Amino acid sequence: MISFYPGPSRVHDEIPEYVTEAMQQGVLSMNHRSAEFVKISMRTVTLLKQKLNIPKSYSVFYTSSATECWEIIAQSLISTKSYHFYNGAFGQKWFDYTKRICPEAESIIFDKDVKLDSNASLDIIQNSLVCLTQNETSNGTQINSASLKVFRKKNPTSLIAVDATSSMAGISLDFNQADIWFASVQKCFGLPAGLAILICSPKAIERAKSIGEKSHYNSLLHMIEMMEKWQTTHTPNVLGIYLLMRTLESMKPIKQVQEKTIERFKLWEVFFKDFTGMKLLIKNREVRSLTVLTLEAKPDLVEFIKTKAKSKGFLLGEGYGELKKTTFRIANFPATKSKEITMLQKFLKSIEKA
Ligand SMILES: *Cc1c(COP(=O)(O)O)cnc(C)c1O
Repeated sequence: MISFYPGPSRVHDEIPEYVTEAMQQGVLSMNHRSAEFVKISMRTVTLLKQKLNIPKSYSVFYTSSATECWEIIAQSLISTKSYHFYNGAFGQKWFDYTKRICPEAESIIFDKDVKLDSNASLDIIQNSLVCLTQNETSNGTQINSASLKVFRKKNPTSLIAVDATSSMAGISLDFNQADIWFASVQKCFGLPAGLAILICSPKAIERAKSIGEKSHYNSLLHMIEMMEKWQTTHTPNVLGIYLLMRTLESMKPIKQVQEKTIERFKLWEVFFKDFTGMKLLIKNREVRSLTVLTLEAKPDLVEFIKTKAKSKGFLLGEGYGELKKTTFRIANFPATKSKEITMLQKFLKSIEKA
């Protein structure tokens, strides 16, 4: 089965080889306080910064999931309240998780075909925390770098937190335009689930120190203390970190990865141009996600496509949340092979013609 599911998604072909290697080298039972682990951890952070273009002054932490990152932010980085701008199910979930910890959280919902910076009224949001979903996996929209830059400029005193779970390692992110970034690795990184990366600017670290929250094992202050020694507050997913390190070693710099992502994305756009039965859900090209394509069709056709695809060996992404019955999704992630895209396109063309 070839997976086009936008998470958990197709993993890199080399993963079985790396797992065997991890077994042989004792990584599977490695002590997380050992010098060997520290070496792997340090190398992983160094490679992340190099390959993804993360500023040197930013700190990198390991967590278990993007969902955990939502909680860490709510616990450790909200001093007064948070504002959540979103247009889909993941932004909404982040808001819901935060509200349970910080009941004052506020939501600002915008249209999925509208750019973030053209509708946001920002006067109220000073000195707080703003939460943005850079790539909304549920509907296939994104906040592009230009929009984020405008948003940052209009909003200089607040911390900006960005969920980039389904875009980090697939497109080039301008980390300077926000203070907190995170992603789990089962999407664009092409790795098995169970690990996520949390990235903080010096300003975010400063905020955590001034708030001083220390009530949880994953309070950011505890994590900062441990990461000074390249370690974690708990026994981490050592195999996951090792696989991330090995994958990063052979990864091209993110600028090159992004070129390929965009090239393939444009091929998909052209491919669907003359289709009548299925259409890209997002009409405004400026907000279309480069890594997750959402296709809209009549509910019975969606069902037919998914079932038929499965019988032909393709796993398509289900529609998400309220879009479940009327859409399906296609991941445009780096681990996918060009040959597989050609095969899926041939299949979709046959459906459209029938
Ligand atoms: C998948 C996804 C999540 C959830 O990730 P977990 O690792 O399951 O916690 C959060 N946000 C976005 C945008 C996602 O695509």
